[in-house]
Amino acid sequence: PEQLAPEQPQQGFLSRFLADDQKCQLMLLKTLQTNPYVKLLLDAMKRSGCAVNRERHFSCEDCNGNVSGGFDASVSQIVLCQNNIRNQAHMNRVVTHELIHTFDHCRAHVDWFTNVRHLACSEIRAANLSGDCSLVNEIFRLRFGLKQHHQTCVRDRAILSILAVRNVSKEVAEKAVDEVFESCFNDHEPFGRIPHNKTYAKYAHRDFQNRHRYYSNI
Ligand SMILES: [Zn+2]
Repeated sequence: PEQLAPEQPQQGFLSRFLADDQKCQLMLLKTLQTNPYVKLLLDAMKRSGCAVNRERHFSCEDCNGNVSGGFDASVSQIVLCQNNIRNQAHMNRVVTHELIHTFDHCRAHVDWFTNVRHLACSEIRAANLSGDCSLVNEIFRLRFGLKQHHQTCVRDRAILSILAVRNVSKEVAEKAVDEVFESCFNDHEPFGRIPHNKTYAKYAHRDFQNRHRYYSNI
């Protein structure tokens, strides 16, 4: 009986691995072509002289733990955790979140590795603008009518993100987030508003395109 399926686990592992990689690439393609948050960010990056190339700037990989993605500033590459990204909506959120970091990396001299407040600012913006907090926000608004929930969610997520990538204490992460919260929470570039859902994001994209149309006519 033990000879019945000696190759089975390996084959299963291999095909699952290939399927994960292919699934990741296909979902990424769809996100880049159709998601309004992502389309706006890609336009904004191009306008800032940092055009994004799918093959050069994205990498589908297996990741440890339950991390969904990351931005590797040293090689300007977004890592997508193919073993943890569950579906298209999840892929949309991860790509949006990471593109906000790359947008910040492009427009400002972000000191990711030694200045925890720079990292904190970008994490606040990514949590605020990517929709990471919007779904939860909707549920809580309906159930409890908490208007402050969005801000609380953004603060909590920014702190968790810092702790996931930097070896600092919770106190240091909280202090950094609180010090820059006001200005970074109110910095909505390139959206011009908090895009609470896809419709808002579409309007933001349209406004962004118009803004630059006018500027180019001046
Ligand atoms: Zn982040």
